[in-house]
Amino acid sequence: MERLNLRRRGEILETLRLNEVDADYPFMLVQSQADSERILEAALAERDVVVERGIEATSIRIEGGFAHVGLTSASGEETVIARTVLGADGAHSMVRHALGVSFHGTAYKEPWRLWDLELDTPLDHKDGHNHGSRNELLRLLTSSTGVETAENGIRNFVPG
Ligand SMILES: Cc1cc2nc3c(=O)[nH]c(=O)nc-3n(C[C@H](O)[C@H](O)[C@H](O)COP(=O)(O)OP(=O)(O)OC[C@H]3O[C@@H](n4cnc5c(N)ncnc54)[C@H](O)[C@@H]3O)c2cc1C
Repeated sequence: MERLNLRRRGEILETLRLNEVDADYPFMLVQSQADSERILEAALAERDVVVERGIEATSIRIEGGFAHVGLTSASGEETVIARTVLGADGAHSMVRHALGVSFHGTAYKEPWRLWDLELDTPLDHKDGHNHGSRNELLRLLTSSTGVETAENGIRNFVPG
């Protein structure tokens, strides 16, 4: 996406022309989470790492220099004993809570919602559109074009 239109009550107030920025990548890359996950999962598979889904880490106990991680899934509960645990479990991280690590920074008071939709709209789909009012912001970004380019862009960032 090369331009972002800032709109209010249907009118364009300003257009941010990302394609005129002096940068190596003068655009905004919009890619669905599903595509990102597919690319990263394929990169992991090439390195013989398998992503297991449907398993929740529920507890961590440190004992004898090892972490005992409690896991729950549809097939029951198990404990994995590991020397290292990497917590990549998001903003409400169980791992962070279990280790008593505080959350730095601030959080939004309001929930943010994200939808992937097919829209029938007269808006130019090559642009992004921010619709703002005093209390609300709706951002429409399209990922309908340049999917190949987007994949190639992300691939460059996968450590190899
Ligand atoms: C609406 C919205 C729009 C955003 N837009 C942008 C944007 O345009 N650009 C940008 O840079 N950032 C954006 N962000 C922020 C970005 O999504 C987050 O910063 C990023 O996803 C954080 O990545 P993460 O891997 O730390 O956590 P997450 O992406 O939240 O991943 C955590 C994963 O851990 C799993 N998990 C959680 N708890 C457990 C558990 N106990 N056991 C097992 N698995 C667990 C979750 O299911 C999830 O898969 C946006 C966020 C939102 C909500």
